[in-house]
Amino acid sequence: MTNNNPPPELMPCPFCSYDARIITYEYGQDIPRGFSVECTGCFAETAHSPTLEEAVQVWNTRATLKPARLTDDEIKKLIVPEEGYGAAHRKGWNACIEFLRKEGVI
Ligand SMILES: [Zn+2]
Repeated sequence: MTNNNPPPELMPCPFCSYDARIITYEYGQDIPRGFSVECTGCFAETAHSPTLEEAVQVWNTRATLKPARLTDDEIKKLIVPEEGYGAAHRKGWNACIEFLRKEGVI
């Protein structure tokens, strides 16, 4: 299979400035797939969107709001699975925002 479309341009993460990547979700044979964009540094992720274009737009719009620059050590602290961003991530986007505000990242 060939794909002539260039990959969409993703802005860096607004929280840690790392590169982002596209996640494709396959829900099953009769269920439409979805897309999100995820940070490769702190794993901040957009909500699932029905189209790739929408997921990219959501990420790039949000990413323009407030770019931050964190050190690698600060990012490691944030993503501790039991207590850091990783734990908040499993509870959903609002928990992530709350966690990052508490940590003074945003
Ligand atoms: Zn990030």
